[in-house]
Amino acid sequence: MPRPLVATIHSSALRHNLRVARQSAPHAKIWGIVKANAYGHGLERGMRAFAEADGLGLIEIDAALRLRELGWNKPVLLLEGFFDESDLPELAARDIQFAIHTDEQIDMLGHASLSSSVHVHLKMNTGMNRLGFAPHAFRAAYERLRTMPIVRGITLMTHFANADDSQNACMPLAEQVKRFKNVTDGLDGERSLANSAAVLNHPEVAADWVRPGIMLYGATPGGQSAAEFGLQPAMTLASQIIGIQRIEPGDPIGYGSRFVAEKTMTVGVVACGYADGYPRHAPAGTPVIVDGKRTRIVGRVSMDMLNVDLTDVPGARVGSKVELWGRNLPIDEVANAAGTIGYELMCAVAPRVAVIEE
Ligand code: PLP
Repeated sequence: MPRPLVATIHSSALRHNLRVARQSAPHAKIWGIVKANAYGHGLERGMRAFAEADGLGLIEIDAALRLRELGWNKPVLLLEGFFDESDLPELAARDIQFAIHTDEQIDMLGHASLSSSVHVHLKMNTGMNRLGFAPHAFRAAYERLRTMPIVRGITLMTHFANADDSQNACMPLAEQVKRFKNVTDGLDGERSLANSAAVLNHPEVAADWVRPGIMLYGATPGGQSAAEFGLQPAMTLASQIIGIQRIEPGDPIGYGSRFVAEKTMTVGVVACGYADGYPRHAPAGTPVIVDGKRTRIVGRVSMDMLNVDLTDVPGARVGSKVELWGRNLPIDEVANAAGTIGYELMCAVAPRVAVIEE
């Protein structure tokens, strides 16, 4: 008998969330972001659900090539520009677009002997200080690419650090937009700036292409309410109660005996632990739903199990359904309680967890 732990992927929610992105940025084309195995939802599943997207973006070369094998014939974009010279012939042959963020990558393009031309995305570092040419170096990089016959198109690209936090005084979105525009005004090429946070909170900056990821999976970048944006959860992680303990005041629960009962309690054991991707650092109090009723985890999360408080869920028994996150419990809420983000929870669901699609 398999363990009763299942991640259900709601394909209709994936399709719905893409439509929300489309409504939010109606004049932009959409890269559906499917890196990290479509944020844990499955690359092929994401590809099929995002059939209406204008292109798919990711960072893994093998997954980009897989999209072509699976029959995706619209644009594919490698967001990170992490490639070697030996990768270029295949990227060009499969018409996979890629980001460029260093002079060394432009050198590689100069040396490569390619059978077909490439479309590249030139990345500017406007304040995130991750990848990209500094604004003062951007035009020189652009000119180098423009003179290469093998480059048939250049999209101008940047990435926001704080699109979900308009109060951020350190690097406001408006400052990044200003730096980008100052350098790119007058240059030929489409523009690509907005991640989910910008699509949701600043649709006015959606240019030619937007690049939503997390919102397509029904969560938000900064723990805002996904439901308020009309997004639907695309993954439900559910298990069952596999054991029940009656606990008296003073009795400890779990490894390290960190949680000590203050009153008589009923505690359920759930078949889900950190080896399944549930965060080990989730503290007592992190919400969970048992038999449709909201309760909390207690004690330390262990490798294969965690404990939940059933004291106020009187009908609960072995076999009761437990929702760790999903349709009835937003993943952002669990992530907030555990001091992390929905992205991390989705991506961490382990290979041993059964996945079904509905
Ligand atoms: N664009 C780039 C360059 C990214 O690195 C990412 C993800 O980190 C995205 C878009 C999608 O971001 P999000 O999932 O926050 O929408």
